[in-house]
Amino acid sequence: MSEPDPGPQTGSGENSEETSLIETEVTADTTETRQASRADPVVESRDLSVYYGDDQALNDVNLAIHEQEVTAIIGPSGCGKSTFLRCLNRMNDLVESARVEGDLLLRDTNLYGDDVDPVALRRQIGMVFQHPNPFPKTIYDNVAYGLRVQNKAVTDDVIEQALRRAAIWDEVKDQLHTSALDLSGGQQQRLCIARAIAVDPEVILMDEPASALDPIATSKIEDLIEELAEDYTVVIVTHNMQQAARISDRTAVFLTGGELAEYDDTQTIFENPESERVEDYITGKFG
Ligand code: ADP
Repeated sequence: MSEPDPGPQTGSGENSEETSLIETEVTADTTETRQASRADPVVESRDLSVYYGDDQALNDVNLAIHEQEVTAIIGPSGCGKSTFLRCLNRMNDLVESARVEGDLLLRDTNLYGDDVDPVALRRQIGMVFQHPNPFPKTIYDNVAYGLRVQNKAVTDDVIEQALRRAAIWDEVKDQLHTSALDLSGGQQQRLCIARAIAVDPEVILMDEPASALDPIATSKIEDLIEELAEDYTVVIVTHNMQQAARISDRTAVFLTGGELAEYDDTQTIFENPESERVEDYITGKFG
């Protein structure tokens, strides 16, 4: 299951406005941390296990996500990809039966520590979903939304920059005050990316962001993801192995039972995986 459970973040109706995920705030240390080595892990899971009731969805996952890279998470359906992604900004808190064990670090902070406010955390780690979910507002107001929630200044320049970074400015610059719902699916998804980056998160999580789109729109999103990694750390769940091979720097392969079977640079995973099971998966023997 890749689609998040219905929650305040996921809908495209008015309830979506209750979302906290895009209420991202520029933290004081953002610039400084981005100057750190690209090799630094920004997020790291240590022996991370997740249960839904009695059912285990992740099994002792150890995975370090590196700064300003695209990390792809692949694996057969039901192997825990979305669960892992949702842990990264504590979206699983919204699932009553979910229980998390182990550690998940954002740099030195344990994301599941008592002193961590999930809403504040989601200000640093934004999320883009499988189905574009713009608010029923104008294009401009969608991008401005997170800034307004945080009482940050909304200027035309900030809106333009976010739309440019999401590679959609040229297509919408003459219709900023028309409804976002009139855009095509691919444009809506890039608008959602603009909405997420307007508030300058450090990490952007994407759950199958192109799987509902046609090939041309998909290609634009893929190009965009690669560009985003110049400024952000991107973690993408995809069932599309070619997509992972095309756009990611590192690839994590989850297999049945919520186990991280292998994690390496993308070329190694696709050309010379260590384990036979991963090779079988990559070569389509199961999936
Ligand atoms: P993937 O993204 O790889 O398809 P998921 O993380 O969606 O896998 O699911 C992993 C396992 O956890 C599956 O067995 C799925 O049925 C279960 N699961 C996912 N979300 C929930 C939930 N909200 N409640 C109960 N079980 C869930």
